[in-house]
Amino acid sequence: MSPSLLHKIAQLTLNKEEEALTSAFFPMMRTEYPQIRAIALYKVAGWEQNVRDPECLYGDDFTDFQADLNELISSLLSANSQASYQQKNYQDFSLLVKKLNREKQQLYFLALLFDDKADEKTNSDSVFMQMLCLSEIYSNHREMISLNDKDALTGLYNRKAFDHRMIRLLNGAQNRRAHDKDLKACFAIMDIDHFKKINDSFGHLYGDEVLLHFAQQMQQFFRQDDLLFRYGGEEFVVIINNIEEVSAKSVFERFRKHIENYYFPQVGTVTISIGMTHLNASLLQTEIIDRADHALYYIKEHGRNNIACYETLVEEGMLKEIKIKSDIELF
Ligand code: GH3
Ligand code: MG
Ligand code: MG
Repeated sequence: MSPSLLHKIAQLTLNKEEEALTSAFFPMMRTEYPQIRAIALYKVAGWEQNVRDPECLYGDDFTDFQADLNELISSLLSANSQASYQQKNYQDFSLLVKKLNREKQQLYFLALLFDDKADEKTNSDSVFMQMLCLSEIYSNHREMISLNDKDALTGLYNRKAFDHRMIRLLNGAQNRRAHDKDLKACFAIMDIDHFKKINDSFGHLYGDEVLLHFAQQMQQFFRQDDLLFRYGGEEFVVIINNIEEVSAKSVFERFRKHIENYYFPQVGTVTISIGMTHLNASLLQTEIIDRADHALYYIKEHGRNNIACYETLVEEGMLKEIKIKSDIELF
């Protein structure tokens, strides 16, 4: 893995829902349990025993315990470890590290430092058990959020997660000055061509298999900070942040070619059509989708297996501009 990719992974932030859970849960735990000295959520990029710089995503400073924390995380990551937590006892307190969910090359851990006096150890199991319970609850909630947000077949973020993410993206930018509303992001809808024929010729199960392979190709092709969603049946959405339109177009074009050349087991060749648009926060979510959809339709009507950008089509007079509803005054 290249250092820049590692760096990108390290810069990743949690999605909003997990973030909201964490920022609500931690203060609540601290209020309930004053014996908690510190609590933090960590992310580790990498596999197996190689603990690469655990990154604190939220919570207290564990700098003084970094070496012990790394050691506990390493032991949780060791190939033969079935354990979901590790602990280290000090004179007056304990450090507990709980393994949370794993997403591709990112692993999440909860670190908890709490008062746990050595001379009261006979009784202290209960404090320890309480802390373990708390971390289990937090872990379960995270998992539930993650399952709620994911499409069961492909494991990509689902439509619900898409709506949340769009609201967040657009609202965040709404508050900026007018000329800052340009999010420097590109939005694309990708639709598998003649997918119905695949179902009809090979059966629904093979259709599902194509969707699964397609999603896996998306995950391998796009970068960690690109947002990938299963928007509907055989329709997928990708949002690429911090990118100029030309670069985004060439990325999508490369992906289209990649799919064209990919061998789908049994089914063989599958092609996709892509409609792209610029993400601008002065537009409504529906307007952005409409724009990408219009570009997609244009491709569907002009031979498929291609990509079009809404703005370019309008500029070239191939498509009529869609009226911006948010600019129309209502009487
Ligand atoms: P076009 O090139 O115009 O996009 O044609 P198409 O056949 O891909 O599009 P159409 O919208 O006519 O058909 C989409 C099909 O996708 C119809 C639906 O039965 C199928 N589909 C939707 N969700 C799933 C799914 O989860 N699994 C399978 N196997 N098929 C699905
Ligand atoms: Mg479709
Ligand atoms: Mg289709």
